[in-house]
Amino acid sequence: MRRILVVPMGRVFGPWLERFLQELSDFWRAQVELTQPVSPPAAAFHPRLRKFFAPYLADFLRSLSREVDFVLGVCGEELYSPRSPMVFTEISFSARSALVSARNLQEFLFGPEPESLFVDRLRKEAIRALGHLLGLGSCPNPRCVMHPPSSLMELDLKGTEFCPECQMRLRLVQVLRGEVRFPS
Ligand SMILES: [Zn+2]
Repeated sequence: MRRILVVPMGRVFGPWLERFLQELSDFWRAQVELTQPVSPPAAAFHPRLRKFFAPYLADFLRSLSREVDFVLGVCGEELYSPRSPMVFTEISFSARSALVSARNLQEFLFGPEPESLFVDRLRKEAIRALGHLLGLGSCPNPRCVMHPPSSLMELDLKGTEFCPECQMRLRLVQVLRGEVRFPS
């Protein structure tokens, strides 16, 4: 069974965290573990932007555990990268880790259950990040969870599941890695 370590980074606790962990575990049929919260390293802070450098933090996450398959950070700070001034999710393929900015996903919450919307966003981005780490590419289907959102609106519009093509690709990746037998 895969092991995923979830690392709260900065001020990021809430009643939603438990639900998020459970959903992640159910979706990937993985063993999900939670660490104590860690502070984002000061070296990653940009004083003028008042944001943290996402690629540095994503790599840093791996230093917290060498044992698990994936390390997933949930960050209470705003993130930036060379590619974008506002980052929802940063992935480090070399470190097999990913970082989601809970802070950026908490913007513009609406509807009768804003917290549910937030957990949905978090789940979609976490699933997409792990999908990439498992070998899936970005998907052009705007409803597919592997579609890279360029805005919160796009993120809210897409679903929480893989489209049939991505399901097939994921299956193929798992077959190639010997994780499942074909056909089954
Ligand atoms: Zn897809």
